[in-house]
Amino acid sequence: MKGIIVKNISNDYTISCNNKTYVCKPRGKFRINNMTPLVGDTVAFDEQNHYITDIYPRKNELIRPSIANVDIAVIVTSVKHPNFDTFLLDKTLTIISYNNIIPIIYFTKLDLLNEIEFKEIKKYIDYYQKIGYSVASTPNDLLKLIANKTVVFTGQSGAGKSTLLNKIDPTLSLKTDEISYALGRGKHTTRHTELYKIGNTYIADTPGFSKIDFHDMKPIDIRDNMKEMFDNLEYCKYADCMHTKEDGCMVLEKVEKNEILISRYQNYRQFISGWLLC
Ligand code: ZN
Repeated sequence: MKGIIVKNISNDYTISCNNKTYVCKPRGKFRINNMTPLVGDTVAFDEQNHYITDIYPRKNELIRPSIANVDIAVIVTSVKHPNFDTFLLDKTLTIISYNNIIPIIYFTKLDLLNEIEFKEIKKYIDYYQKIGYSVASTPNDLLKLIANKTVVFTGQSGAGKSTLLNKIDPTLSLKTDEISYALGRGKHTTRHTELYKIGNTYIADTPGFSKIDFHDMKPIDIRDNMKEMFDNLEYCKYADCMHTKEDGCMVLEKVEKNEILISRYQNYRQFISGWLLC
């Protein structure tokens, strides 16, 4: 049989298949091949003997949280209390894209803005949408975008992640709260990642995801995973243009004309220079 690993505690893997779950252990051959099944893996299993027999190839694999085959990451982004942070958003977008995951920006607390503030934020929302990122600000719009996918949620504390999860499915929020509470007690310091099935969508509870960093990304990876830095490259004079001071750089030209958001460009410059300092 074929299913998806939704939970792993010690060496017990819970596999979801046709709305049923099975607890299996990995076969010894995985140890020999130095492979560990991960939450999110599609696996073949022997339901009689409770063994995972095969792991299907992964589209991606995250280390923290430990999870495979994530389709979408929802970046829960507050526009007020805490204030809109373009640096954090751009960084998260770039790292997520590099990991072969589609990002969706979910804006929260738009109702806290006055008219002038809203106009200012709307410029950003429109810009991110224009360059090709998916944007949502209501649970219903979001649900349409994540249907039938495996999804992780990320966002700074206070951005409204729990409130959003609660709107999507109250049981989901309850489960994640229980885990945070257990963690707060200091006893269960190692926690597991778990996928919750809501309709046909798998949602992972992954608090550690907010700690993502550039790790092994080089400046060229950063360039190629920021939409407008990549999309404009073919119009630059040099095929290896890093958009910093080169002649005939389309990105610099568009920054000059305000066609590329200045905050995006400044963040890009900071990301690539940060790498050079390492
Ligand atoms: Zn350029």
